[in-house]
Amino acid sequence: MSSTKYIFITGGVASSLGKGIVTSSLALLLQERGLSVTIQKLDPYLNVDPGTLNPYEHGECYVTEDGAETDLDLGHYERFLGINTSQANNVTTGRIYQFVIDKERKGDYLGKTVQIIPHITDEIKRRIMLLGKSKKYDVVLTEIGGTVGDIESLPYIEAVRQIKFELGSTNTLFVHLTLVPYLSATGELKTKPTQHSVKVLLENGIQPDILVLRAEKHLNRGIRKKVALFCNVEYDAVIESIDVSTIYEVPLLMQKEKLDQIAIRKLDLQETKAPDMGPWTEVVSRLKNPESTIQIGLVGKYVELTDSYKSIIESLSHAGATYKCKVKVNCIHSEDISKDNVSELLKDQHGIIVAPGFGDRGIEGKVLAVSYARKQNIPFLGICLGMQCAVVEFARDVLGLPKAHSTEMKPRTPDPVIDLMEEQKGITAKGGTMRLGAYPCTIIKGTKVYKAYRKTSIKERHRHRYEFNNEYLEEFEKNNFIASGINPDSQLVEIMELKNHPWFIGVQFHPEYSSTVMKPHPLFISFVKASMDESVEKI
Ligand code: GLN
Repeated sequence: MSSTKYIFITGGVASSLGKGIVTSSLALLLQERGLSVTIQKLDPYLNVDPGTLNPYEHGECYVTEDGAETDLDLGHYERFLGINTSQANNVTTGRIYQFVIDKERKGDYLGKTVQIIPHITDEIKRRIMLLGKSKKYDVVLTEIGGTVGDIESLPYIEAVRQIKFELGSTNTLFVHLTLVPYLSATGELKTKPTQHSVKVLLENGIQPDILVLRAEKHLNRGIRKKVALFCNVEYDAVIESIDVSTIYEVPLLMQKEKLDQIAIRKLDLQETKAPDMGPWTEVVSRLKNPESTIQIGLVGKYVELTDSYKSIIESLSHAGATYKCKVKVNCIHSEDISKDNVSELLKDQHGIIVAPGFGDRGIEGKVLAVSYARKQNIPFLGICLGMQCAVVEFARDVLGLPKAHSTEMKPRTPDPVIDLMEEQKGITAKGGTMRLGAYPCTIIKGTKVYKAYRKTSIKERHRHRYEFNNEYLEEFEKNNFIASGINPDSQLVEIMELKNHPWFIGVQFHPEYSSTVMKPHPLFISFVKASMDESVEKI
């Protein structure tokens, strides 16, 4: 193919309409047509990356293989497409401004007044085109965060308007996602908010090519015609996106609505083959027709917002689909767990996960949850901080070191079984300074974790500052504790497990970042299987 095509996805009327899911769905359909695609997210906030954002505010921070801390939508992109994204796939206003201001300080603008237009918009354009220029992709889909009409989004909207002007209409496509609310009092779907939102786009020089309308009820012909007429969009380019029980059904709905066909027609990509959604449909059918159910207790401190643990929840559902098993995730607030109620709170769970996290709030609740899982022989998966809690619990209870702790929580503990990594000492800045991205790990043969992965050499993604303190390793290993995964370069303990327990594994990395719909992560598959066995025993 001669040149890369660009699709821009904007949102209107309200946030949280599932722009990331619609974008991923369109990208998947194009990928299934044999096109090589990638997705980029432009975020209109001033943080340089979401790594410093509280998960309550912005949901989970996703981490790419190359160590970028990104918006959680990149997780959807990877899960849907089965591809790796990178630092270039997530750009924030903060990063753009930082770059432009650094350039200004160096004197690179040669005395010119540095302005939002053209300097900020040019930098936005450069970041969008960067992916296209790599020549790796036939289509780059760029999702613009926020809602049109927001002050923060304006430079992005202006930048993509200019790209369309420069590249022409067969090389660029605008998809706008809006909400068509249903008024139950009158039994009507309302299109006015969509009309207004398209007007805002038009005021900024953008005519959307395709409208995707999120709705609770089906849109009839009349509504579609009305939207087409008032928004200047072809009738068949008015697409409905109805609420569904699983996000993984959205690509199938979009295919039914011919979203991909309209996109390839407008982008002059008709030569592509029809998408084969057979295997995907099979997974969706497994998700929608489960033959068993298990309950997993997810112990964390951001549990009010399930977005905070998005990738873990999705990974459990991918693994569940493998066995036609519905995985019901019960989020349990670690601050609510006490010695007196731990068994009441956890007794019905077939498996327990202690989640990643930072800081000491709720930490003792996590340690209690670990202890319960260990003593009751309940399948346990500790992720990052969850593994560190497992190490602390083991040290206190099995090794008889009651004051053992992580130095993150208790800097002066006499038994720092979890301690700051050597390379982290002396780092004071918070943004982008953790051990981030994929690192190799060697798995010891004959362990439970080897049984899950069936290989000795793996690569997993990290996001942490603290590690298992190897000075204690010998003592741990005398007591049925196995360091079953080790970083071959630094000797860091990346995986621990217990010999005398049916399934008790802690990982210093984040397996949840690399589970995809078509390739569920082996650890989650193994954990779900162990929990299913537990559920049979419980009945
Ligand atoms: N707070 C811990 C550390 O920095 C764990 C981080 C995490 O769970 N992602 O090592």
